Amino acid sequence: MSLLTLENVHVFYGGIHALKGVSLSVDKGEIVTLIGANGAGKTTTLRSVCAQVPVREGRVFFDGREITRCPTHEVAAMGIGHVPEGRRIFARLTVRENLEIGAFAARDKDRVRARMEEVFGYFPRLKERLNQKAGTLSGGEQQMLAIGRALMSEPSLLLLDEPSMGLAPIVVEQIFEILGELNRRGMTLLLVEQNAFQALQLADRGYVIQNGEILLADAAQALINNEEVKEAYLA
Ligand code: ATP
Repeated sequence: MSLLTLENVHVFYGGIHALKGVSLSVDKGEIVTLIGANGAGKTTTLRSVCAQVPVREGRVFFDGREITRCPTHEVAAMGIGHVPEGRRIFARLTVRENLEIGAFAARDKDRVRARMEEVFGYFPRLKERLNQKAGTLSGGEQQMLAIGRALMSEPSLLLLDEPSMGLAPIVVEQIFEILGELNRRGMTLLLVEQNAFQALQLADRGYVIQNGEILLADAAQALINNEEVKEAYLA
């Protein structure tokens, strides 16, 4: 069953037509990756789901409900977690404070504490650094914090914008391993990546976006074996 569906989504930045009728879907329990070159429209696609850019034409559905015009906080409350490009953690706040901000919807302190313990299950490093200012964490730890913060709101779908960006290969591997673990425990993931090979290895299905249009959609393994994809994105 489809958890997230984009139907013919168009987004403009002023005169720039950034998404030209993007349609894609993510089923419950899947890992789907959206790959493409710089400026192809990957970030904009995620933003169109979280209402961070206006959708001029087309529709977005989550869990059977239309969310095209829902404000960002409502989309988050419905169960969509967003790990934005560049992490956007609060550098001057501690790890704990960053996580608490992620739990914006939970008023109950015990609930927040329980969520935090769950996040530490995935990222024990964050527990060790709990009172450290987030800006002093390593790049990998900051990425873990960005993911952890998104998990605090108990999402059923996680949108991840280039979690591998700027990280050493070994750290990328650790992050991807945790994404796999999250998925095995029931989380649905839509993963935007320039690191196409690793993303496709992790994913069930993939979409290739070029110039604001979906060029290809297939099983991840089929995309890995696709000559066109190999040449353009896996070289
Ligand atoms: P990247 O990996 O570089 O982030 P991307 O595939 O995520 O690339 P987008 O960031 O979605 O691509 O950009 C899609 C298009 O929209 C590009 O042509 C980009 O220049 C343009 N664009 C993105 N954000 C803005 C903005 N705030 N104002 C104007 N144009 C924008």
